[in-house]
Amino acid sequence: GDELVASVHRLITHADEVRRLGVRTNADTADDAARARRFGAEGIGLCRTEHMFLGERREAVERLILADEDAEREAALAELEPLQRGDFLELLAAMDGQPVTIRLIDPPLHEFLPSMEDLAVKVALANERGEDAGRDAKLLAAVERLHEQNPMLGLRGVRLGLVIPGLFAMQVRAIASAAVELKSQGKDPRPEIMIPLVGAVQELHLARDEVSRVLAEVGVEWSIPIGTMIELPRAAVIADQIAEAADFFSFGTNDLTQTTWGFSRDDVEGSFFTRYLEKGIFAVSPFESIDVEGVGALVRTGVDRGRATKPDLKLGVCGEHGGDPDSVHFFHQVGLDYVSCSPFRVPIARLEAGRAALD
Ligand code: PEP
Ligand code: MG
Repeated sequence: GDELVASVHRLITHADEVRRLGVRTNADTADDAARARRFGAEGIGLCRTEHMFLGERREAVERLILADEDAEREAALAELEPLQRGDFLELLAAMDGQPVTIRLIDPPLHEFLPSMEDLAVKVALANERGEDAGRDAKLLAAVERLHEQNPMLGLRGVRLGLVIPGLFAMQVRAIASAAVELKSQGKDPRPEIMIPLVGAVQELHLARDEVSRVLAEVGVEWSIPIGTMIELPRAAVIADQIAEAADFFSFGTNDLTQTTWGFSRDDVEGSFFTRYLEKGIFAVSPFESIDVEGVGALVRTGVDRGRATKPDLKLGVCGEHGGDPDSVHFFHQVGLDYVSCSPFRVPIARLEAGRAALD
């Protein structure tokens, strides 16, 4: 046992000496961040902030999304901001001295809305009893208005940030003020702000302008990188334009696989694809290991076009593929700067990054 552990440790240490790819982790909490650091992560490549809006905070989020008056929306944002600030204080402190890529909120809307069926039942019951359904009736109308047939292709990512005034600004204020506070304590916070699901450069320009404005308002005196996910085929194809408004790219190979194949990532288990695998039509799911010919070609396009505009553009990947051995070799070959994967996969990613460099 101990001998095996020691030899694996030696192997990974050797890999660290030769690898060119950085290895970061996907983490949303200080606990996960600390665990990943023990596994050797060199930063956070993806903090999914939508996870911070579940649980007790859900009600404020509901009020925010469903608000039809400015005052109601602003009250919900004012409630959420100090909570977000606390989240980022903890996360940045846990990763002191290392980059932390914080992605602005990217929820599939349906996960944050109250159930239309439950509301409809409540309203029907109230009506039957001759009572005023009041708030429930109002909620139901709003949920019906926002209902989408394909939430994963709907009001997500940057689209949500551009449609709900003040949402991105609230998050950026929380990030910036947390970082300023840590600096004032002599710490070394290194947040990077990432815009999700960009398909058009116009979206990125608008979001970036808002982020920059808030950073200036908070009085951040150093430069916080502002970048974007490349997770739609269109973004990969126009990466030369997108690079003009981005300090870094992170390839979101989960969504990029979904949108390139036109195949739902949520249904991959138990759908027709399982039978493809059983019949041997494919040996492995493209959600597990990077599809080099299709999705990989788009990644390569994104890398080449992005760097044609900005030779020093920082490039990473934060989809599940970032921790898959074969995919790590591919990301090394296309010239990414780092991979980001779940904490437990960090040692494997370090090892494979080393092997890729030796190959
Ligand atoms: C991705 O799409 O690859 C990604 C990392 O983002 P998410 O999984 O949160 O959609
Ligand atoms: Mg995504």
